Amino acid sequence: MIQDQFGRRLHDLRISVTDRCNFRCPYCMPAEVFGESYKFLPKDEILTFEEIARLTGIFAGLGVSKIRVTGGEPLLRTDLHILIGMLAEIDGVEDLTLTTNGYLLTQRAQELKDAGLKRITVSLDTLDNEIFRQMNGRGFDPQRVLEGIQAAADAGLSPIKINSVVQKGVNDHTLVDLARHFKGTGHIVRFIEYMDVGNRNGWKWDQVVPAQEIVRLIDAEMPLEPAESNYPGEVASRHRYLDGQGEIGVIASVTQPFCAGCTRARISTDGQLFTCLFASRGLSLRDPLRDGADDAQMTEMISNVWSNRTDRYSEERTELAAAENAPQKVEMYQIGG
Ligand code: SAM
Ligand code: SF4
Ligand code: SF4
Repeated sequence: MIQDQFGRRLHDLRISVTDRCNFRCPYCMPAEVFGESYKFLPKDEILTFEEIARLTGIFAGLGVSKIRVTGGEPLLRTDLHILIGMLAEIDGVEDLTLTTNGYLLTQRAQELKDAGLKRITVSLDTLDNEIFRQMNGRGFDPQRVLEGIQAAADAGLSPIKINSVVQKGVNDHTLVDLARHFKGTGHIVRFIEYMDVGNRNGWKWDQVVPAQEIVRLIDAEMPLEPAESNYPGEVASRHRYLDGQGEIGVIASVTQPFCAGCTRARISTDGQLFTCLFASRGLSLRDPLRDGADDAQMTEMISNVWSNRTDRYSEERTELAAAENAPQKVEMYQIGG
């Protein structure tokens, strides 16, 4: 078990398996930046399944038991179920999950479950057709994502988490409808405060709807009570419906940062290790891996990075964002959410 400079253990690993996406959510990959001519990573720069599995095994040896596969859109990675199967077999991996926009899920849910995927998170910002078309930047309707969620439930990937990024003036007036739709289904909607990830979404404080306000809006129509965390360091704070019809979560990364309990490392599509969602630089694990480093050398490299870690961006957001010459941050689609 290794700890960073603030005593935080390394417990979770998020792996981005592709930097490509079939959506162009303006808060993540705005269409005007990620157009036809945008150059995504060439194949030889992307970690292979074997490299991902080897790194995961090394992280598991360091105490990581929770793995999340993400992207970009992970279902765009060919034969993803084969990778899931490889990760599911690694000793020490107890929780294996995936975050997807759900657009390709109907065809894939069963093969992912059969390969060993335990749970799934599907992003769905709103049920309003017009707003969803705008929020995915591609004019897609939410119906297909809802079908994907149903396919995941039918395949037994439950309980399903539904992620919704809330942006003031964009979808905040539809969040109660989203909560109502999934109440009583066993799926858990998690509302996420809009974050200043990356450098390209033009984030401003006044576009954030505070988690407290989200809870107040839902509670006014469907009464809620606070619920205990499932485990220490859980990012979502839980609120249960008083009538026993399930729960919602809110992720208050902006208004109530949870850096003190942050146990997550991330590997970008090209194999760099990042210790914060808002980091500027990562350390390439791919290069030493391809240069023949053995497991002991890789373990030492990763341990060094983690034990020197001091990241707490969300707690220092105001000062860091205002700093002159603030460094560019890594983009969300490169390291996943
Ligand atoms: N493409 C997949 C998806 O959308 O679920 C996986 C990758 S996506 C980067 C992971 C999560 O990050 C999604 O739930 C997405 O809504 C969230 N996200 C992206 N940009 C965000 C932002 N600026 N603020 C808050 N959440 C964001
Ligand atoms: Fe794609 Fe997910 Fe980013 Fe939307 S949030 S652009 S679906 S990677
Ligand atoms: Fe973790 Fe960085 Fe987010 Fe803080 S800002 S919770 S350190 S990823």
